[in-house]
Amino acid sequence: MIIGSHVSMSAPDYLLGAVKEAISYGANALMIYTGPPQNTRRKPIADMKVKEAHELMDQYGIAKQSMIIHAPYIINLANCVKPETYELAVSFLTQEIERVKELAASYLVLHPGSHVQAGEEAGLNKIVCGLNEAMQNMGNVSIALETMSGKGSELGYRFEQLRYIIDHVNYPEAIKVCLDTCHIHDAGYDLAHFDEVLKAFDQIIGLDRLACLHVNDSKNIQGAKKDRHANIGFGEIGYEKLYNIVHHPLLEHVVKILETPYIEDHAPYQQEIAMLKSGQFDKELPEKIKRGEQI
Ligand code: FE
Ligand code: FE
Ligand code: ZN
Repeated sequence: MIIGSHVSMSAPDYLLGAVKEAISYGANALMIYTGPPQNTRRKPIADMKVKEAHELMDQYGIAKQSMIIHAPYIINLANCVKPETYELAVSFLTQEIERVKELAASYLVLHPGSHVQAGEEAGLNKIVCGLNEAMQNMGNVSIALETMSGKGSELGYRFEQLRYIIDHVNYPEAIKVCLDTCHIHDAGYDLAHFDEVLKAFDQIIGLDRLACLHVNDSKNIQGAKKDRHANIGFGEIGYEKLYNIVHHPLLEHVVKILETPYIEDHAPYQQEIAMLKSGQFDKELPEKIKRGEQI
């Protein structure tokens, strides 16, 4: 299983620190933001200890494709209302693609965008325009559009919407998809029948486009359109369904990333990864995480 979590990339060790954090969780994958997700200030990649980080990854058998980059969530390519928001999104995304190349990563996860008040079709077409502008020089990088919960005016909460984007962009070969379990559950997909969900995904998007899985439980019921992540086994999806998803034979080679919430300032990832590997739900897990007890 290729599994890891969101890890932080901060001074002074940056990417090296991120890889060390992932290793401390027993992970063989990781996801990072190139800087604070809520703003667009970025340090040069040259200062981020990339070479040392790559050496450590090699040593621990972490493949470059298992290092996922997440674009900041302030990027909104679908904003038809404020031209400056759209322009910022395009220019930032273009630069972010260059940073992904410098990091030697393959996948840049992107929230498709929110149409604000313009309507879904206008929003989807704006996303297509933005991707066409930003994707002119992709190299080996792919954009992994994330499946969204549909909160507010968010787009990408139906597989058909992602298909629409793929069908209309100039560079469809460089578009992949990141499936977030919390988001699709909140969007209304029934994870109790995951085989049917996966079949629909395959028919509409194609399993060959699935680059990454975000493994999260949800604080809300199916279809709630809320997007609030819960710890594995402690939300409305539950341990068993998430266990079956991460161990699904068709998803064996897909990178799995946890984005579950910290518990009282403690990262839950070492314990959650171990519990997802074990096949055994542990109802004491939050207490163990609070005590910093590894399992
Ligand atoms: Fe995301
Ligand atoms: Fe996600
Ligand atoms: Zn989310």
